Amino acid sequence: MQHVLVTGGAGYIGSHACKALAKAGFIPVAFDNLSTGWAEAVKYGPLARGDLMDRASIKAALAQYKPVAVMHFAALSLVGESMTDPAKYWRVNVGGALNLVEATIAAGIRNFVFSSTCATYGDQDGVVLTEDTPQYPINAYGGSKRAIEDILRDFGATGAIDHVIFRYFNVAGADPEGELGEQHYPETHLIPLMLDAVAGKRPALTVFGTDYPTRDGTCVRDYVHVSDLVDAHVLGLSWLIGGKGSRSFNLGTGAGFTVREVIDASRAVTNREVPVIPGARRAGDAVALVSGSERAIGELGWEPTRSTLRQMIGDAWAWAGKPPYQR
Ligand code: UDP
Repeated sequence: MQHVLVTGGAGYIGSHACKALAKAGFIPVAFDNLSTGWAEAVKYGPLARGDLMDRASIKAALAQYKPVAVMHFAALSLVGESMTDPAKYWRVNVGGALNLVEATIAAGIRNFVFSSTCATYGDQDGVVLTEDTPQYPINAYGGSKRAIEDILRDFGATGAIDHVIFRYFNVAGADPEGELGEQHYPETHLIPLMLDAVAGKRPALTVFGTDYPTRDGTCVRDYVHVSDLVDAHVLGLSWLIGGKGSRSFNLGTGAGFTVREVIDASRAVTNREVPVIPGARRAGDAVALVSGSERAIGELGWEPTRSTLRQMIGDAWAWAGKPPYQR
């Protein structure tokens, strides 16, 4: 069986990717410094403890496991924090990725799958975003991810490495079999915060901005189930192993929902009210981010079957009722 090095494999999306890779017949090696990830979430292959700022630890993991590919999830990912501390995002995200790409090439590995984001597109006035839409990020998180895409293009042009870039829209939900879920400290994402408020773990959900030019004044996002998202990564890996070359794909469903619509769906799933406080806009938020995902569906054969609000919120709600991962 072939190994795949999964950076951030102890984190939310990375751990789900490890499960999908194991199901597809690979051995996922979770490369993680456990700064935000959870050793308990590493269930489907070994944990290689290391740090992307430490080149020797990357080199050692690649030498030990000789993976057929690298999937790069590890990153700082808080939009708000990236606006107040941009240096950290450029240093860790871009510096870490550069170390990883160089080490991957030095180890003779050609296949590189990268987690990028719709935040690289910036705020484009509600247009449906396709892979050909120009990328103008409006926060340092999106800027750092776009820079990594540039690194991959430049290194790809030398012929040394092929990449599949996935630009995620809003990833949500949890493993439908209940083995994995989302656990961030601090939590900043809408659906887990909303469910915490429903469960009484927080007093209320603050809605960030109710005066946006949308159908109900709140921001529009395109939510995709984490299990659908990681399925696309396995397809992307097959694409690279099959020698199809470098390509970028959006991962969203093409359907946009407002914050209020997410709250309404939660009420239908949990049969409980969400305590809500209308709040100010959050710095760095785009009005609407909706994916054109025809490319992933058409070219990769991706089938996002679980990405309804009901299933995403339902799986996240089931996960929220389980004991949390422990340090
Ligand atoms: N949001 C909100 N209250 C919160 C967290 C998020 O109103 O406590 C909104 C946020 O402004 C955005 C949407 O929910 O419009 C999704 O935010 P999230 O942080 O989950 O993902 P992002 O779109 O920033 O990647």
